Parts: sequence; structure tokens; C-alpha cells
Amino acid sequence: MSIKQNLNHIKSTLPKHVTLVAVSKTKPVNYLMEAYNAGQRVFGENKIQEMAEKHDVMPKDIEWHMIGHVQSNKVKYMASFVKLIHGVDNFKLLEEINKQAKKHDRVIDCLLQIKIAEEDSKFGMTTMEAFNILKSEAFSQLKNIQVVGVMGMATFTEDENQIKKEFTLLKTTFDDLKSHESFNFKPETISMGMSGDYALAIDCGSTMIRVGSSIFGERK
Ligand SMILES: *Cc1c(COP(=O)(O)O)cnc(C)c1O
Repeated sequence: MSIKQNLNHIKSTLPKHVTLVAVSKTKPVNYLMEAYNAGQRVFGENKIQEMAEKHDVMPKDIEWHMIGHVQSNKVKYMASFVKLIHGVDNFKLLEEINKQAKKHDRVIDCLLQIKIAEEDSKFGMTTMEAFNILKSEAFSQLKNIQVVGVMGMATFTEDENQIKKEFTLLKTTFDDLKSHESFNFKPETISMGMSGDYALAIDCGSTMIRVGSSIFGERK
């Protein structure tokens, strides 16, 4: 199937409240343009430099999402254009994003990455750490970022019950954090679900799925 057919197929299965992020990491610009020409406007990348290079040459009405692990010293390379940063897992990083966003007179949307997987290889903070950030005085000073929800990655396993348990944990975390809504915490997004598990993620409350290989084909 073509990229366009893959996209149309996936979109036909999605409820209206779910946003599809087309994860285009490692794929060439002509693949992304095929998705763009099929109507896709939200793209996700996991390396800042690759995202910046693609941003430079592609149409300007695209929403660029950073879905990978972010190093503080590289935030400056995306601060002028990034729409949403999914993987924010510590307060220092929020401060750096705020600082760089301010230079461009922007407010950058962020998701707090919550550790839901049992495996140690996945990044993320605990619910308690997220709570402590959101209610802190220091967080309330950050005028150039807005936390709009949470993101999580399930354990890499075939065990659907395990994945379901982890997705449910992220949904519960989101619901618990909601009571701390403030001027720069506007909870509306739960980013969970990838090619192999997005249907299950939506059943568990996902509002944003990050799908790569089911659109663009397997990565090497
Ligand atoms: C690569 C990646 C995806 C997409 O994975 P697929 O299995 O290709 O859909 C989603 N989320 C993150 C954080 C990724 O790094």
C-alpha cells in the first residue's frame, strides 16, 4: 500500500478526538511530502537536527512534534518552530525550553513524559514527580511554556494485558494531575500508542497517537 493509502486507512479508524502524529524519523523528505499531499499536517521526529532540516525545506503549515529524548543544549535548534515537545522528563528541561521560547517570543507546548513501562530502558518521571513540578512556585514562573498533558511509552512486549495496564496507568495519572490545572498547565492531551498498539491505546483513553512504520513502512 502507498503512504496515502496507509494514512487514509488509519484515519478512517480513528475517533474524531484523536490526533494522528505521523512519525517520519529516518524517512526522506519525499516520503513526508507524499503524506503532506494526502492531507497530513502533524509530523513527529525524534532527533532535533533531523527535524530542523526537514522543517527548513517543507511547507510552513506543518506542526512539528519532537517525540524523542531531548538534550537541553539542543532545545535552541527547534525553539523557533516546534509545536509540541512530547518527552519532557525533568524540570531543568522545562526551564530551558521556557528560556529558548522566550527568545522567540513564543509559548511552547510540552507533555510530561511519565514512566509507565516496567523495563528500565524507558525515560520518564513518576506521577509524584510530575505533581511536585506542577504545583511548585518555580513552575508558575514559566510564562513561555504550557504543559498540555502527558506522554508515555509502554513496555516492548507482545503481552496485551501488560500494555493495557501501563496505558491505563497513564490515563489515571492524567486524571489525577488534572486537578492542578493552572495558567500554564492545561491538561488536554494523552500521547500514547504507536503502530502496534494504537487501537488499544485509544480504548484506554489516548487522544494522540504516534504512528510511524504503519504509515511509512519499516525503518532499517
Ligand atoms: C519511533 C517512535 C514511534 C513510532 O513507532 P512505530 O512503531 O514506527 O509506529 C512512536 N513514539 C516514539 C517515541 C518513537 O520514538
